[in-house]
Amino acid sequence: MRPSCATIDLDALRANYLLAKRLAGGRALAVVKADAYGHGAIACAKALEPLADGFAVAFLEEAVTLRTAGITRPIVLLEGVFDPAELETAAELDLWPVVHHETQLRMLELAPRRPRRIWVKINTGMNRVGFAPHEAPAVWRRLQAVPNLDPPVWMTHFACADDPTSSMTLEQIRRFHGGIATLPGETSLANSAALLAWPQARGDWARPGILLYGGNPLVVGADPDMANALRPVMTLTSKIFATRWLAPGETLGYGATFVAERPTRVGLVAIGYADGYPRHAPTGTPVAVGGRRTRLIGRVSMDMLTVDLSPLPEDLGQGAIVELWGEHIPVDEVARAAGTISYELLCHVKRVHRIHRGTEFTP
Ligand SMILES: *Cc1c(COP(=O)(O)O)cnc(C)c1O
Repeated sequence: MRPSCATIDLDALRANYLLAKRLAGGRALAVVKADAYGHGAIACAKALEPLADGFAVAFLEEAVTLRTAGITRPIVLLEGVFDPAELETAAELDLWPVVHHETQLRMLELAPRRPRRIWVKINTGMNRVGFAPHEAPAVWRRLQAVPNLDPPVWMTHFACADDPTSSMTLEQIRRFHGGIATLPGETSLANSAALLAWPQARGDWARPGILLYGGNPLVVGADPDMANALRPVMTLTSKIFATRWLAPGETLGYGATFVAERPTRVGLVAIGYADGYPRHAPTGTPVAVGGRRTRLIGRVSMDMLTVDLSPLPEDLGQGAIVELWGEHIPVDEVARAAGTISYELLCHVKRVHRIHRGTEFTP
């Protein structure tokens, strides 16, 4: 069997959720959209169900998957519904759709059956979707006319919460509260970055995603204590299936981008960009072989990649375990090297065995 696998540590997931909840000081939805950022939505939701206040997914099918698997906690649909039939299904399954534009609000007003509770998105500067803050009172008046509907959760989403030096987040918080100040209902502002960097963004419901999976979204000024408290959830590993020596002047792989300057011992690793490892990771990107750090060399291929074994002891060769990210190599470090974010790397993992580990949770 090809020895490439993503091991998911469900104990670490639960620890990170509890950390998020402590930071939130209120309730926290575990965001498990995109198959729990590549970690397996059903397994992650089941592991979190005893402690999570609820879950958030992007759209209906993702929520149906969770309900079918027996998840009973509240589930928010972050993109809302796309047609009236979806609204009816959302009502049947007791899902909470976000309403972020006029078409969705009309659908809600005209629906024969609708969910008991909705979330309303207020656009405070992201400028994708959401009602303007000054429209909130008018939205509230229309919601009051809809039968059997609880007061909404008013939510907003930050554009720059990952940058603790940007003034934009405080401005977004100000606009948000300005719009909804006099209206009944609860609030939801913070994503992971806001939980870590912006205590002013507290509300009734936080929406941590990447933080649950051990990713640190802050671009600068990340609190090292906090970064250390986050536990990696996915460890992506493979094995060295062959080794070879390069003589000085010999090149390695597609594009011959790596040229050996001295005799170089190369390990061939059974994982590539078709498994989700980023093709743009350059020579020098950290990897761990047998738990010891070394570097990627040459271009990442579809099914394999190559690592530098020269600095490592001789006995680390064929059969040695290679960690691409996880326990020894923070996924954020690999993402930075490849010019992307941990979210994308985690979501893209595929074609490898996924193994979930963890002790059963007993409350
Ligand atoms: C995905 C998403 C989140 C979670 O974001 P993280 O940065 O992963 O914490 C929160 N809110 C909304 C609206 C989202 O779409």
